[in-house]
Amino acid sequence: MLKRVLIANRGEIAVRIIRECMDCGVEPVAVYSIADEQALHRILAEKSVCIGSPRPQDSYLNMENIIAAAVATGCDGIHPGFGFLSENSRFAQACMDAGLKFIGPAPQVIEAMGNKSKARALMKKNGVPVVPGSDGTVASAAEAAAVAEVIGYPVLFKASAGGGGRGMRKVMEAAEAEAMFQAASLEAESCFGDGSIYVEKLIEHPRHIEFQILADSFGNVIHLGERDCSIQRRNQKLLEESPAWGIDEAIREQMGQAAVKAAQAAGYENAGTIEFVVDRDGNFYFIEMNTRIQVEHPVTEMVTGVNLVREQLRIASGLPLSMKQEDVKLTGHAIECRITAEKITEDFAPCPGRVDFIHFPAGNGVRVDSPLYTGCEISPFYDSMIAKVIVYGQTRLDAIRKMRRALEEMVITGVESTLPLQHLILFQQDFLRGNYNTGFMEENMEVLVQVYLEAGGEQGDGKSLS
Ligand code: ADP
Ligand code: ADP
Ligand code: MG
Repeated sequence: MLKRVLIANRGEIAVRIIRECMDCGVEPVAVYSIADEQALHRILAEKSVCIGSPRPQDSYLNMENIIAAAVATGCDGIHPGFGFLSENSRFAQACMDAGLKFIGPAPQVIEAMGNKSKARALMKKNGVPVVPGSDGTVASAAEAAAVAEVIGYPVLFKASAGGGGRGMRKVMEAAEAEAMFQAASLEAESCFGDGSIYVEKLIEHPRHIEFQILADSFGNVIHLGERDCSIQRRNQKLLEESPAWGIDEAIREQMGQAAVKAAQAAGYENAGTIEFVVDRDGNFYFIEMNTRIQVEHPVTEMVTGVNLVREQLRIASGLPLSMKQEDVKLTGHAIECRITAEKITEDFAPCPGRVDFIHFPAGNGVRVDSPLYTGCEISPFYDSMIAKVIVYGQTRLDAIRKMRRALEEMVITGVESTLPLQHLILFQQDFLRGNYNTGFMEENMEVLVQVYLEAGGEQGDGKSLS
């Protein structure tokens, strides 16, 4: 096994990985920016190294400082978490060059899959269905519009380097093409330093269903079932569940096989996710591969009993997968809520500040992954996700009840969060029936916010929704 691993991240995922290292006898080394001197990930790890000032470019994106910290502390591996450098092939290469095992796939695989338009081409070549769209990127708004004419409006202009719902624009008709191309390209340039754009047909109100993959260095590739992440606001996930409700068994089987094929085609190693959109008729299309651990990985851990971060460490240590495809059985139902420090009524503006008091829910089948503690500061410099609440129940209804109870029990004071909104979703009739798609938040946001306001900005009991 790797002996000492540097965790090149912060927030809840750094905490998750540090805890895992401790649980399996690997020494964790934390890194932190000046803004994170009192952050939980730094406090938990016995060893920690300051890597720069608060701005991400100076610290959590500062490859040189991170690698120097790993070398100086005698690490043999680096876990990148998600976000930051996790899908940066140059970083993976720099780790290798410094004699450090990057806990993820090889740099060329990140390169091939991280570029979304290249990944599409690779999938198409290997018989995995992709959304109709451009072959590779388009150089101008005119070229994008020409592709759109052929596949038919509405379309999406998407950033090749995209992630986290950024650099993506819906285009309803030809007249919008020019402006939307510029908007998508500019956002992509500023977020990812790469403004290249490709075109995809807009699948109307699809479900977002993704498959968790594990692949070891011996060529074994398995999937661990799916997650439904269709509850999204502006293409960003708010709530995830596993398994996906009401998916035809034959389609689930085909999607799982396609996901494994996709990972094999990429020469994949370690944990990864294959994302699909699924239309009303059950047709599924590959949209992207995330070459890293994903925010919502705990729901898969709960229904499969597989510890994904432990598997990541094992794979990176050159050990084979601890299970075969036929050993993977999904039982029960898991749901995750991503709680962010944002103001629901102010268009989800980030709400950093001091957490005056915190109480986390607990009990049978309830898990909270969070870097918060009473008195901690939520920094304005970083992502606003502050906690993931994950529950496990025997059935979907059981899990929903448990999540309602967990969120009712949870207290965060000092900052506003999305918690009341997620609590209300758990009472919405279509959600209860499992009858929803990525259009859910757009359709329901107004009503949900109204109920929230009627409850005086406190947690409503959701009765008016059911
Ligand atoms: P995606 O939504 O990109 O398909 P995930 O569901 O794993 O993939 O979400 C990853 C997103 O989570 C990032 O793009 C980022 O917006 C957000 N995020 C949350 N915490 C962090 C963090 N510590 N560092 C970077 N990004 C984070
Ligand atoms: P990111 O890298 O930002 O996560 P994705 O390609 O995964 O970008 O897309 C994010 C979300 O946008 C998806 O989960 C889905 O809801 C929506 N989306 C992406 N592509 C399409 C499409 N072709 N048609 C309809 N919705 C899409
Ligand atoms: Mg995605």
